[in-house]
Amino acid sequence: MQIPQPSLTRRGFLVAGAAGAAAVAVPGVARATAAVRAVGDPFTLGVASGDPTADGVVLWTRLAVDPLAPDGRGGMPSRAVDVQWQVATDARMANVVRSGTASARPSAGHSVHVVLAGLEAGRAYFYRFRVGGHVSPTGRTRTAPARGALVPFTMAVASCAQYEHGWFTAYRRLAEDQPDVVLHLGDYIYEYEKNDYVVDGGNVRDHAGPETMTLAGYRQRHAQYKADPDLQAAHLVAPWVVVWNDHEVDNNWADEVPEDDQTKEAFLARRRAAFQAYYENMPLRRSSLPRGIDMQIYRRLQWGHLATFHMMDTRQYRSDQACGDGIQVGCDDRLDPSRSLPGRQQERWLLDGLAASDATWDVIGQQVFFARQDYVVGDTDAYNMDGWDGYAASRNRILRGIEQRGVGNPVVLTGDVHSHWANDVKAHWDDPSSRTLGVELVATSITSGGDGSDVPSYGPAVLQENPHVKFASNRRGYVRTRVGAGELRADFRSLARVSQPGAPVYTQASFLIEAGNPGLQRVAPAL
Ligand code: FE
Repeated sequence: MQIPQPSLTRRGFLVAGAAGAAAVAVPGVARATAAVRAVGDPFTLGVASGDPTADGVVLWTRLAVDPLAPDGRGGMPSRAVDVQWQVATDARMANVVRSGTASARPSAGHSVHVVLAGLEAGRAYFYRFRVGGHVSPTGRTRTAPARGALVPFTMAVASCAQYEHGWFTAYRRLAEDQPDVVLHLGDYIYEYEKNDYVVDGGNVRDHAGPETMTLAGYRQRHAQYKADPDLQAAHLVAPWVVVWNDHEVDNNWADEVPEDDQTKEAFLARRRAAFQAYYENMPLRRSSLPRGIDMQIYRRLQWGHLATFHMMDTRQYRSDQACGDGIQVGCDDRLDPSRSLPGRQQERWLLDGLAASDATWDVIGQQVFFARQDYVVGDTDAYNMDGWDGYAASRNRILRGIEQRGVGNPVVLTGDVHSHWANDVKAHWDDPSSRTLGVELVATSITSGGDGSDVPSYGPAVLQENPHVKFASNRRGYVRTRVGAGELRADFRSLARVSQPGAPVYTQASFLIEAGNPGLQRVAPAL
């Protein structure tokens, strides 16, 4: 779509704002608004929308005149600021159908979450915000189709955007593909201090601030990412459905266990700060508001009759990684049936939801590698303890559940591993002739790992050793899908480089999945 120029939209907002004058600001808020006007543009972090339903969506922005302020406050005053918002049916914001005022409070990092309801199903809407004389860019969003509707749609899948490892060109290219919805599977930010995680050839830019530990630190880090124009472009184009992975908190954290030797008390305080900042910076519904040390982000969304999105959290409830984490040979603990990756409650939630879903496609949006992946050729087996291989019994419960409930078309979506993969999901991984129950599409990173190459991670041997793997590539990019009633098409979109801005995107491989006939069929790459 054409992203409207601010100059086109500003005048309309001011006219509508003057005519509407919906809310009268309290005196303190009026003073805060005046202070913001004097300091500068409060929309440096862009706008976003998310979690669409058939009658609504969440609109988001967070005010910051100085995104990198070390105290995490974005240069904002320690008072609430009134933010006016508008929703229209056209990109020029001529036909405004909803408007109101939200309060951006310091306790929420000056973020606002406007939860819309009562909109028409299955259509695009446009939205923007205003503070004083400043008008935000205009975002496009959409509601999900009505229950029962079989309207084909495009969905982009992204993950893993280490800011230092490259330019966010892949987000820009994703926006240019104009998806109807974006699923982000985590590692939206990384927690490291600069020079802690350096890619071959050197990082192209640096994180501000120390390794994130505090609310101020996480707020500052989210703001640094959100200030990126390519990321902002991707939010402008469609609603996002987000779930975190590990780096939104700490590398490979598991429930209450940190990566390193923090005390439990210190880690829980850190986790709490990370969750709070995550909520503040994402277009999430109030059901995901942090509560104590917890925050529920596993949730289900419906896309007409075509798709149910089962969005999972594979970090907050998991058993600790077996055998000390990493890639391990001969670790029996990974088979222990008392261990779970999503936690027993979320396992049941997933299986109940799969049983209840009457949509054509059951999209399971999660983080870590689902298919078995033996890293060593020959009789020795080596598995990654952080992925589902490290929780084999937990995965088996899900596979048996899919079989028993006759789930027709499960599509597992994965991030985390910084490479593209296309996998058949097998009833029994050691028996290539066993039933194919569904597919797994693994979206590579936006930047993490740097430029990469066409050679799959761990070499071509992995393809021989794991015959259910149909494609792997170590390029940066994202996955674009076209979801229809009869088939789902997946395009693995890749960029030759992220070390310099502006790389074009190309489709490296395409697959078809026929509804009712699980498994990947390779087809000629789409443009
Ligand atoms: Fe990552």
